[in-house]
Amino acid sequence: MKAQVLKAYDEKLTADQWVSMEDVPDPTITKPTDVIVRIGGAGVCRTDLHVIEGVWRPHMDPNGNALLPFILGHENAGWIEAIGKDVENLKVGDPVIVHPKISSGTCLACRRGHDMHGDGKFPGLDSNGGYAQYLGTSERNIIPLPRTLAPKDVAPYADAGLTAYHVIKKATRHLLPGDRCVVIGAGGLGHIGIQCLKAMCAADIIVVDKSEASLSLAGKCGADHLVKADGNEVEAVMSLTNGQGAEAVIDFVCEHGTTSKGLAMTRPMGSYYVVGYGEDVKVPTVDLVITEKNIIGNLVGTWADLYELMALADRGLVNLTTVEYKLADANQALKDLHNGKIHGRAVLIP
Ligand code: ZN
Repeated sequence: MKAQVLKAYDEKLTADQWVSMEDVPDPTITKPTDVIVRIGGAGVCRTDLHVIEGVWRPHMDPNGNALLPFILGHENAGWIEAIGKDVENLKVGDPVIVHPKISSGTCLACRRGHDMHGDGKFPGLDSNGGYAQYLGTSERNIIPLPRTLAPKDVAPYADAGLTAYHVIKKATRHLLPGDRCVVIGAGGLGHIGIQCLKAMCAADIIVVDKSEASLSLAGKCGADHLVKADGNEVEAVMSLTNGQGAEAVIDFVCEHGTTSKGLAMTRPMGSYYVVGYGEDVKVPTVDLVITEKNIIGNLVGTWADLYELMALADRGLVNLTTVEYKLADANQALKDLHNGKIHGRAVLIP
């Protein structure tokens, strides 16, 4: 099959080409519960750029370059191409979306439903992913798609959407009508998160972003208040919240100083959710003691989260804007993402 292969890390992201299109062996069924998916669309994600930069290397590839070469792509959807002999509830041709983490199913984390913390590979981060014609995965990772949803239109939900849904689900379990929720960053994840918030709770939604285009998108997604990140965004949020701050602040950026501002926008006993990554969270411990603020990390989501997100998409409560590229143009899609030229989410079509 054809696939886009990562052969070398590029810390400064200055190389002309990051992945190369090659003929590689097709994935094969090796376990009776294995599934092979014919890719209909593979989302192009900022995490792919971070993988190329080597940000994930200390976690995924601590012994040097042992992982390389491998195929990028962790946001995958398509159709069932082949199934192992023990797979009972899927058939060839079914449209599906793929949970990004291959979970064992037998470790404690999996048994508790925390698929993303289970043992097993993370295709596209530590093994062959979906920038390809076919992807090898396991039946545990497959979510059948409702008939209203085409694989190429939903692929980015597999990680970007799932991450947004996961954090919003956590927050909405505590957000009551009359509470305030701040969303920092209305980009690829943020605009899905705002729609999930709107669908799942009655809190007042305040969106903070430095881009007018993103704020306008946030308005269309259901934000109640739009705040331009012009240096006075903390004051603006405080005045919208009677000087108290918001019960929940969800930070999809976590770079360029948003972490200290996000914590400042969080009211005492409120929660600050870390979704984006890049800078360190710095906070005096005495401040946390006095205010009893919570700082909460978030890592993709569970199989059930992705199932629930597909139910929201099926009902038209969450919509995704995608830009299509041919698989052969993966480098262009990655460059466009790096250069801030993609509005919505890029999807590679083999
Ligand atoms: Zn992603």
